[in-house]
Amino acid sequence: LVKSSYERIREVDGDVKAFLTLNEEDALDKARELDKLEDKSAALFGMPAGIKDNIVTKGIRTTCASQFLDNFMDPLYDATVMNKLNDAQIVNVGKLNMDEFAMGSSNENSSYEATRNPWNTDYVPGGSSGGSAASVAAGEVLFSLGSDTGGSIRQPASYCGIVGMKPTYGRVSRFGLVAFASSLDQIGPLTRNVEDNARVLEVIAGHDVMDSTSADVEVPNFTEALTGDVKGLKIAVPKEYLAEGVSPEVKDRIHKALEVYESLGATWEEVSLPHSKYALSAYYLIASSEASANLARFDGVRYGVRSENADNMIDMFKKSRSEGFGDEVKRRIMLGTFALSSGYYDAYYKKAQKVRTLIKQDFDEIFASYDVVVGPTAPTPAFRVGEKTEDPMTMYANDILTIPVNLAGVPGISIPCGFGENGLPVGLQIIGQHFDEETVYRAAHAFE
Ligand code: GLN
Repeated sequence: LVKSSYERIREVDGDVKAFLTLNEEDALDKARELDKLEDKSAALFGMPAGIKDNIVTKGIRTTCASQFLDNFMDPLYDATVMNKLNDAQIVNVGKLNMDEFAMGSSNENSSYEATRNPWNTDYVPGGSSGGSAASVAAGEVLFSLGSDTGGSIRQPASYCGIVGMKPTYGRVSRFGLVAFASSLDQIGPLTRNVEDNARVLEVIAGHDVMDSTSADVEVPNFTEALTGDVKGLKIAVPKEYLAEGVSPEVKDRIHKALEVYESLGATWEEVSLPHSKYALSAYYLIASSEASANLARFDGVRYGVRSENADNMIDMFKKSRSEGFGDEVKRRIMLGTFALSSGYYDAYYKKAQKVRTLIKQDFDEIFASYDVVVGPTAPTPAFRVGEKTEDPMTMYANDILTIPVNLAGVPGISIPCGFGENGLPVGLQIIGQHFDEETVYRAAHAFE
């Protein structure tokens, strides 16, 4: 299995460019070791997997697709999710391409090469977990891990026609995930079907003493929730998710999906999430503010690249950061630093936090009467490489349907629901209540 993974990578990755680092020798050794074991009952025994390159892996370089960490050769520890996957006896095939520090929606912000959509390499795979989605869609690995701060698991899953789950905030430990926006980041699985996804989440979820924001709640057996039965399921469809800006072909696929749910005995009604229109602005203030603080650690001293031609210490900080970070990362650091500065803090950051509370309340109200919220994952299918790189605002607008879910902290999945006019996949997003991944998986599985 592991060999065939590398064969497939050699066949297609020259075009898809999903991987930044391959772990071939160690992976084959590990596979041989596993072959010799008598007990092959581990939950993910021998499964070849790819890992987003912002999750630290002992002994394998972790770059976050940034020149700043190009030489971060040997992280000294494994992320908690890696320890759990290793206990379940997976084989780590390699590290996956992404937008630099997970900032982006197309993978074009990777400081290496941009990953391409395996369905058509003229198109983007989505981002920031573009490598994670493309590697699964191209058949290079059986599953991958991504991270989702504002849509980075669900949107690439949608663009690549696979299943991607952002769990409830706190469901999965973030220990060993290089932080982008700590109050929004979650790790989650990308897979070819819902059952695989549930199996991987079962392994990686759970409380961790190394992450104080991981929740001490029981991890259910998610695969048991896949009953196929959605009779009586109450679906809310926010009118804001099928409004202007969402392409007619996407709306059409969502309506067809709702018909499928009706035929399975579920019911749906139109509802309103009235504060959705402020989500994008609130997100870009909160995420950038947290990023500006989190990325302060990259100073050229502790790890990463240090500028060669600095005269003194301050000059060394400045030059290392100027040379190490790409344009998008610098844009976010500047925006975040501004929003947190005295005199602006109340007007921007504090206001954004208040809006965040309103968005969470919108969801709470809906979940008092409905089981899940359903809509598209993204306003359009994948766009062409280069189409949105000129204007950051059009790129940001792409995340309008995924961001509210992170702000509210609730779980959301993207599953395939047909194709757009450009022949590329469309994703259906199913959102659940806090810690109710079971209902999300059950609804997703029944549709699939
Ligand atoms: N595209 C969004 C951004 O650039 C979300 C990224 C993410 O979820 N990591 O911030």
